[in-house]
Amino acid sequence: MSHTAEIIAVGTELLLGNIVNTNARDISQALSAVGVNVFWHTVVGDNPQRLKDALDVARKRADIIITTGGLGPTYDDLTKQTICEAFGKPLVLHQDILDDLKVFFEKNVHMKMPSNNLQQAELPDGCTVFDNPVGTAPGCAFEADGVHVLMLPGPPFEMLTMLKGHVVPYLRNLSSEVIVSHDIMTFGLGESPMEELMREKMSRMENPSLATYAKPSEVRLRATAKAASIEEAEAMLAPVVKDVTDFLGDYVYGVDVSSLEETCFRLLKEKGMTLATAESCTGGRVAERMTALPGVSAVYRGGVVSYWTSVKADVLGVPKETLDAHGAVSEETARAMAEGARRITGADIAVSVTGVAGPDPDERGVPVGIVFIGLATPDGIFCRPLDLGKRRRDRIQDLSSNHALDVVRRYLAGLPVTLS
Ligand code: ATP
Ligand code: MG
Repeated sequence: MSHTAEIIAVGTELLLGNIVNTNARDISQALSAVGVNVFWHTVVGDNPQRLKDALDVARKRADIIITTGGLGPTYDDLTKQTICEAFGKPLVLHQDILDDLKVFFEKNVHMKMPSNNLQQAELPDGCTVFDNPVGTAPGCAFEADGVHVLMLPGPPFEMLTMLKGHVVPYLRNLSSEVIVSHDIMTFGLGESPMEELMREKMSRMENPSLATYAKPSEVRLRATAKAASIEEAEAMLAPVVKDVTDFLGDYVYGVDVSSLEETCFRLLKEKGMTLATAESCTGGRVAERMTALPGVSAVYRGGVVSYWTSVKADVLGVPKETLDAHGAVSEETARAMAEGARRITGADIAVSVTGVAGPDPDERGVPVGIVFIGLATPDGIFCRPLDLGKRRRDRIQDLSSNHALDVVRRYLAGLPVTLS
């Protein structure tokens, strides 16, 4: 039987727009991975009556209710009391939780536990306790009238730790089925061409199923199988993943990898090569994405943000004649920037980005969206010219950094760097 969940985030600051409801996003992602349908997100302030109203609605339409927030020790933390009243569950004191709380305060806060925190050791009668190794408020779950109610703390790090450690196993236990997914990551095909290409395949498939999730010019294809065991699900998925990756060919940059930069990192390590960057219109985004990866210093040497023409000339050594004759946004300059970055860093390969991110054309009248990616390598210098069209400045920057990483990825994989 498939389950239907509603997530209720409790907190007035969410309604005021002071914070974003990241907990709902994170819980939804985790639930979708275990095959629980999330049909509703609700946000309610720190108000017992309105929380009770929300619970009354939720229990009629969902068989799993997950709340976050309001488990703390202060007067506005009312989630537990309100839920227990709504479901007719008495709160009982757990001596072991109280003892742990006292130890937590002495060890981490270096003070005696304030009496307020006593209420955190009170939990609904007969519930499953979710201990909180990174905070004070434990979470819990109980079943009443055919509805599973799970209460999680508000602070995102505590919530996430409990989600992985307790909620996912709890939900897996509710179902005899396991759900396994693999993500096939592609770059270079937009969402609609991808849909068109894959529509027939996707509509034919039910289990395993295939779905697309799009980011700008990146499409993730998720193949998901439901089965009685992980082994069985994996066996069902293997031919699908192979079929789809074969069908999409060079567009696939990895399976179960999280980003283009991760694939670049892996390929650089495999080849024992180092990378450098020279960026103009992306202002260091490529460098930032590479350096976000732990351990990347083994392969990434550094980069130059050469925004001014004088920096392209004086730091990267782009010849003045090239800049005068072709302009800062040109194939010639992109090539020279990459060459310069490779020379000054001593890296095996260097990628460059120069383009017009907008909102206005550059001083030579080059329109918004024209971008050149250069790549200097031991095998020569390459360029991928792009016309990204008139888009938002940050979109052009993100897309350009994607293309720069894709150029690196394609070169390292032995594929042509220009797009046909
Ligand atoms: P505490 O013990 O800290 O009081 P709590 O379980 O009572 O924890 P809240 O008081 O509701 O949780 O929220 C604590 C903090 O967690 C908030 O200040 C906010 O920064 C963050 N938070 C709460 N709910 C959410 C949410 N849905 N998404 C993101 N952050 C949240
Ligand atoms: Mg609180």
